[in-house]
Amino acid sequence: MFQVKQEEIIKVPDRVKRALKELLGEHKVLDDEMDRLLYSYDATRIKVLPELVVIPETKEEVQKLVKICYEEGIPVTPRGAGSGYTGGSLPVKGGVVVSFEKMDKILEIDEDNAVAKVQPGVITYRLQQAVEKKGLFYPPDPASYKFCTLGGNVAENAGGPRCVKYGVTREYVMELETVIHTGEFIHTGRPTLKDVAGYDITRLLIGSEGTLGLFTEITLKLIPKPKAAKTVKAIFQDIAAVGKTVKDIFKAGIQPSALEFMDKLAINAVEDFGHFGLPRDAEVLLLIEVDGHPKALEDEIKEVAKICEMNGAKVEIAQTEAEANKLWEARRALSPAVSKLGRVKINEDIVFPRSYLPEALPKLREIGKKYNLKMVNFGHIGDGNVHANFMISGLDEDELKRVEKAVEEVFDLAISYGGSITGEHGVGITKAPFMKKQFRPEEIDIMKGIKNVFDPKNLINPGKMGL
Ligand SMILES: Cc1cc2nc3c(=O)[nH]c(=O)nc-3n(C[C@H](O)[C@H](O)[C@H](O)COP(=O)(O)OP(=O)(O)OC[C@H]3O[C@@H](n4cnc5c(N)ncnc54)[C@H](O)[C@@H]3O)c2cc1C
Repeated sequence: MFQVKQEEIIKVPDRVKRALKELLGEHKVLDDEMDRLLYSYDATRIKVLPELVVIPETKEEVQKLVKICYEEGIPVTPRGAGSGYTGGSLPVKGGVVVSFEKMDKILEIDEDNAVAKVQPGVITYRLQQAVEKKGLFYPPDPASYKFCTLGGNVAENAGGPRCVKYGVTREYVMELETVIHTGEFIHTGRPTLKDVAGYDITRLLIGSEGTLGLFTEITLKLIPKPKAAKTVKAIFQDIAAVGKTVKDIFKAGIQPSALEFMDKLAINAVEDFGHFGLPRDAEVLLLIEVDGHPKALEDEIKEVAKICEMNGAKVEIAQTEAEANKLWEARRALSPAVSKLGRVKINEDIVFPRSYLPEALPKLREIGKKYNLKMVNFGHIGDGNVHANFMISGLDEDELKRVEKAVEEVFDLAISYGGSITGEHGVGITKAPFMKKQFRPEEIDIMKGIKNVFDPKNLINPGKMGL
């Protein structure tokens, strides 16, 4: 379990607090403990109380505060909505937390070029609603989309159910404006579909977890909104058949717009949470959506249903939009529902290459059984991304030891198939010790070198990603 090393905490001297208050105004600099408590957590439930929270309202204020802090040797940790699952927004080395909650404007929706320019504190769902009113579509849809921010999404390269067809946040970021350690802006990328000039620094910044700079403006690609969608629910009693079904759907030339799974514990957790009408006795449930032209969809959804049936599933095609929405609501309720199964949720999001799912899924489930742990598996199975959750009390030494071993085995399993220790939640602090499982020392050295170029004093979100 993660512990802050008190001896590594860097304090904010009073003169820096005063300078920040003078610069931004008293109301944008919080040093009262009750206020700071609100910024001391993320979805890991790990708590690290910031010494100071700064809430800039303009990009120029971000520039100025970063410049002061950097010159004074004070760590700066950017924060969106604090919904991260790996502790990325927690100030584990002390210093200042920079909350982007007030930089939440949609600056422009350019319908002719299908591009949106936003400030980083815009909630993902707000942008989606705004562009959909204009017939456009911003696909990345983390289950937290109603409260997470676009800045946090870019920093984590967030994914979601729709990413199996439309790709993750990375595919939609065209341009970034970022404040780097000197307090200067860098502008990377172009609002054009093609641009091959120079190194692709934009891609480097996406998924950098706030460790290289602070995003102040983001330009995003939009696409036409799909005309219609259809959902099928498939109930399986055999987990290996689920992996094969996923493979068969893609082999049949069908590109689902979402392909999600939940195991028996997950199904029951959701039913306890919201009574969505899911089958409590199913071993595994697949929710599959196809979208596109209404005429083509009828055939496609029937073909998906047929493939599921051939693999032993009982299937039901949602007959109305309301029925389909209810199924997707159940999917979105999974994270909070599963959280109720234990005091502590150890949440991993490993990825397997799709072809190995029939082999890997049963092995994954065995790990929970081997260590006698409550293990709940669900996730974006269409892109091989499985959320493996261990629900524990966190109070029992023996249980903690067992979960530590189980987590290692989960990562080893993913790596043994050429997969990854994280598909969308990032590394942060919780997965930092496992970076060496996925990367060789030479590869980690290159990352450290990049970090050093952007942040020679190691003050921009320090202590993250194992760098
Ligand atoms: C119920 C629930 C469901 C979730 N489902 C998904 C899912 O389906 N897919 C998925 O990918 N994630 C999911 N997440 C995780 C989380 O919501 C995402 O990682 C999200 O992108 C974090 O956004 P945030 O605004 O909360 O960022 P925070 O948690 O505040 O920060 C995340 C990281 O971004 C950095 N950051 C924030 N703003 C900036 C900025 N302006 N400049 C530079 N760095 C910045 C922070 O320093 C930190 O490292 C889920 C979380 C919850 C609680």
